[in-house]
Amino acid sequence: MNQFQYVRPIKQQAAIEAVAKDANATFIAGGTNLVDLMKRGVMAPQKLVDINRLPLARIDHDPGKLRIGALALNSAVADDKQVRERQPLLVQAINAGASAQLRNMATTGGNMLQRTRCPYFYDTAMPCNKREPGTGCGALEGINRMHAIFGFSDKCIAVHPSDMSVALVALDATVLVSGPRGDRRIAFADLHRLPGDTPEKDTTLEPGELITAVEVPDNPFTKHVSYHKVRERASYAFALVSAAAALDLDGSTIKAARLAFGGVAHKPWRLTAAEQFLVGKPATEESFKQAAAVAMQGAKAFKHNEYKLRLAPNTLVQSLKNAAAA
Ligand code: SF4
Repeated sequence: MNQFQYVRPIKQQAAIEAVAKDANATFIAGGTNLVDLMKRGVMAPQKLVDINRLPLARIDHDPGKLRIGALALNSAVADDKQVRERQPLLVQAINAGASAQLRNMATTGGNMLQRTRCPYFYDTAMPCNKREPGTGCGALEGINRMHAIFGFSDKCIAVHPSDMSVALVALDATVLVSGPRGDRRIAFADLHRLPGDTPEKDTTLEPGELITAVEVPDNPFTKHVSYHKVRERASYAFALVSAAAALDLDGSTIKAARLAFGGVAHKPWRLTAAEQFLVGKPATEESFKQAAAVAMQGAKAFKHNEYKLRLAPNTLVQSLKNAAAA
């Protein structure tokens, strides 16, 4: 690991300035991803700005919305009584991620900002446009069974690894950000970006911008929800494909739906066309299969991940069945 400076400011503005003024500085909170990346030489920041002293760990139960501080631990969010009652889809998604030990260290903000687990990104002997722009993409013609089927480019076909983010995009969350030019709010769907020609940029955050909280508005999706994750072992594995499903039912008729895929794109993949398709339909397997066909429009596989073209719709149908039966 390279040598680096370490600072631990107690003021938010000092933390932001420390990163904004230094292109080689980065924030660290739980460190569950960044420390691995530094040990492997994938990232080599020259300054770490530890934000753990900032007062950003609160979970506020406001009328009409939950406000979850960026430093709230994943385990604390999933254990919070009101989060469990008001946003059960979010709780299921968090608990599907990583291991109990990691959820006790990982923060809400860090979970959103974790980097892809593409093996070529981690292998510094291989070309990777995300790690080193302009070197090429090792996965394009390599072993790409974990990779994207939506929204990729010829520069990068990686997928975003967060489970929590799949629920947050389905739940219309908003990210609160503070930066050198002030505060702003970002719709969760706009936080992560597609790779295009600049896959080194995972998000739309500007240099020095710090996520301070995420807001999740109240919604009618408090009962019929499911986060269904398909992975290669039962715990501590990233999704091959996951599907978040939330239904608002009037008897057996669907009044509204929220759907998103994980493990299929460079960002959590919201399925708005499939959501609209389901409105007014009966909550039956046939409806769910038709919605899954809508969801898969535009999907394209690579040499080793063709199985995702079948796994993804099947995962969505299973998640919808789980949600309807919940
Ligand atoms: Fe790098 Fe993206 Fe290609 Fe993986 S898919 S090797 S992260 S450029």
